[in-house]
Amino acid sequence: MTLLEIENLGVVYEEDGATIRAVDGVDLSVEPGETLGIVGESGSGKSTIIKSLIDILDSNGSVADGELRFKGDDLTQFSNEELNDRIRWKEISYIPQNAMASLDPVYRIGSQIVEVIQTHTEASERDAMDRAEELLNNVGLDSERLYDYPHELSGGQRQRAVIALALALEPSLILADEPTTGLDVVIQDEILKLLSEIQDEVNCAIVLVTHDMSVVAEVADKIAVMYGGRVMEFGRTSSVFNNSNHPYTIGLKNAFPSLERGSSKSRLVSIPGSPPDLRDPPMGCRFKARCPFATQECDSVEPPTVDVGDGQRAKCHYTDQATEFRQRGESSDV
Ligand code: ATP
Ligand code: MG
Repeated sequence: MTLLEIENLGVVYEEDGATIRAVDGVDLSVEPGETLGIVGESGSGKSTIIKSLIDILDSNGSVADGELRFKGDDLTQFSNEELNDRIRWKEISYIPQNAMASLDPVYRIGSQIVEVIQTHTEASERDAMDRAEELLNNVGLDSERLYDYPHELSGGQRQRAVIALALALEPSLILADEPTTGLDVVIQDEILKLLSEIQDEVNCAIVLVTHDMSVVAEVADKIAVMYGGRVMEFGRTSSVFNNSNHPYTIGLKNAFPSLERGSSKSRLVSIPGSPPDLRDPPMGCRFKARCPFATQECDSVEPPTVDVGDGQRAKCHYTDQATEFRQRGESSDV
């Protein structure tokens, strides 16, 4: 059974009397044990999608449309209590965009893990402490770290501790929001490797949010490319990279000329232009203003989501011209 099916998700934020449609008509799915990478530039709606799954949107945000089916249940129908009892930590855990934010500066690492375990299970203090130690060891931290405060750890160690916390109750899905941002490249690689190893061991699925194409290239089985609150392209990582069907994906790929992490060429070259105003999204295609291939049709008609084979789909009027777009994109001007 598919682990998670997001269907026609719409999320809005109310701000200053305006409605911001941060996520609009999003369909995504995650199979047990697989990694889905969500990429896209800042503001494209990545964090909003994963926060909506466990209902931790900012207070001015809400799910306006759609279903979030997890193991067959629609999460949007769960009350806060039901989410606490059945879903959060136990089934779905969350590594926030700012890892420090999930560690409390005034409690020792061990106590924080013990607290999560004891809040959600019947475990005794002793058993919870043993489990905390085992978890730290599993993420490559010494047992002594149990007694450290967050500020006593390096950035990489803190991120490991946060991962240990996320694993505490053996969830079947981990939502990781930019888990390596802000860490140096070597540490980033270690953390990504750790996530993959853990996944093999405990067989959990991961939704990994990042703006870095090289990160998803390394660890994701499937990729969703977000732009302006919509999924522009979705499919297996190799297909999305080698057979990109959306001009935005082609542009993103060219913005990372070398996908080898840490290479001098992997710096970000942004695609010219700015994202659409989500208070008043434009008609037609949301990417049209920045698309080198846009036509009048793109200006007025919303593109369909086209199935291009092998589960890959792209939201573009011109998927039949994708081969030409890719060639032109590589040669220069996208
Ligand atoms: P980043 O890469 O910068 O983390 P993101 O892809 O995670 O970006 P989101 O944080 O999901 O993007 O934001 C999507 C859109 O919703 C953006 O336009 C953002 O400005 C808006 N937004 C997010 N949170 C709020 C909020 N609490 N109130 C109003 N607008 C918000
Ligand atoms: Mg974000």
